Parts: sequence; structure tokens; C-alpha cells
Amino acid sequence: MSGTAPVDRLNGILAPHPNRVELTGPLRSLTFPDRCANCGAATTGRLPVRKVFARSAGYRRWASSRRYQGYRIDTARVPYCHACLARDAQERDSLALRWRRRLGGMLIRFFPAVFPLGFAVYLLTTIEPPTHPGDPAGGLERALAFVFGLSGAGLLAYAWWDTRDCMVPKQTSVTLAFDFSPDVSDILDHAQRRIYTMRDAAFAEAFTALNRDRIWRPDPAAVRAEKRVWIACVVFLALAAITAAVLNR
Ligand SMILES: [Zn+2]
Repeated sequence: MSGTAPVDRLNGILAPHPNRVELTGPLRSLTFPDRCANCGAATTGRLPVRKVFARSAGYRRWASSRRYQGYRIDTARVPYCHACLARDAQERDSLALRWRRRLGGMLIRFFPAVFPLGFAVYLLTTIEPPTHPGDPAGGLERALAFVFGLSGAGLLAYAWWDTRDCMVPKQTSVTLAFDFSPDVSDILDHAQRRIYTMRDAAFAEAFTALNRDRIWRPDPAAVRAEKRVWIACVVFLALAAITAAVLNR
């Protein structure tokens, strides 16, 4: 079990179980024991557990600006037994509730699309019927209507895309038995890695043993490189301060 995990800033997005391990690599490459993560019973059933994270997680957060970054939905396929799957289904937000949430979000985002779509329809209605059959009519109007229609359709597609998170059910007491963090990598050690917290000690032990090749340990080369960067920063600041002091005399 890794004790160096930066769990403080993960408060609220990670269940605070005492059994914790930090593993490198993507979620889909995890190996799970054939036992329920919640109660430890033997099982081969899997439940896709989805979580919504900021897109600029891990080392990317250092490069992120204040502008809207969007989000990503990550899925882990966690083993649960039939009884625990049934309990999860009971506790989980209903599909109808999730759709209501999504439709509410989509309606608000649809609003800006009304203007280009309305204008496109208006343009199409202004086209006069051709005087002779077979004559091309309203070429410019059609082209403009196409452009405005396309931008309206783009806004509708964005509304659909941007409300995917509404369909992710809130975690239940069952899915919280095995929890995972977003990517917590650093600039200098930026291979993807996550922290996993587990309620059941026996499950945690089996899970850690199966993934022991991927347990993260700080790379000494990366630590040294980070130290060098900090020293360079301090030297630069000191030189800048001395230069400023000399110039101000
Ligand atoms: Zn179970």
C-alpha cells in the first residue's frame, strides 16, 4: 500500500477507505479478483462504475488555464455479486431521473441554437418559386440557410455532448466499496496513475497482489529532475532580485 498518495486534495472525490493503493496505467488494464468488492463473496459478475472527472486531471492540470475545460467520464469494471448488484440497482438514480436531469440541461443549452435555426427557416421561406420550372432559384438564400442551419445543428450536438455527465448515476453504498481517483500524475512523472480505495481488506489485498507490477513508486530520476527544476527557479529568482537591487541603486 502506498502511503505517499496526495489524498488531501482528493477529499470528497474519493471514498476515505483505509485500504488504498496507487497504481500506474489505465483503468481498463486493471486485474480484479473473482470476488465481490463489497462483501467478498465469490463472483464473476462485473459492474461498470462510471465517474465524472475534470478533463485537465493529472499533469495536464498544470497546463490548464481558467477557461472551460470540460470533463471526462472514466469507467472501471468492478466485480460484484448478485446480491450487491441488486442492492446497487435499488439505490441507483433511476434512468427516468437521469434523463430528466439531462433534458433540463439540454433545454438551457438549446436556447442559443434557436436563433440560427430560426433564421435558416426564415431564409428558406423567402425563396420565391422559380418562374420557369427547372430554373435555379434562391441560391444565396439556400447557401446562407445551410450555414446557419449547420451552426444551429452544431449547438444542438454540443448540448447533447455536454450533458453526458447527467446520465452518470451517483455512487451508491455498493459502488463506493471500490473507489478510484482521477489521474494524479505530475509534470515530470506524467505516466497516468490513480489511487484506489477499498472498503474490504481481503479484497484490497487480493487486488493489490494481482496488480503488484503496477504499484507506483516515485521514480528517483524524476525526483532528482524535479529538485533540479526547483533549484534552477530559486537561483533565477535570486539573480533577478540582485539585478533589480543593483539597477535600483
Ligand atoms: Zn457482494
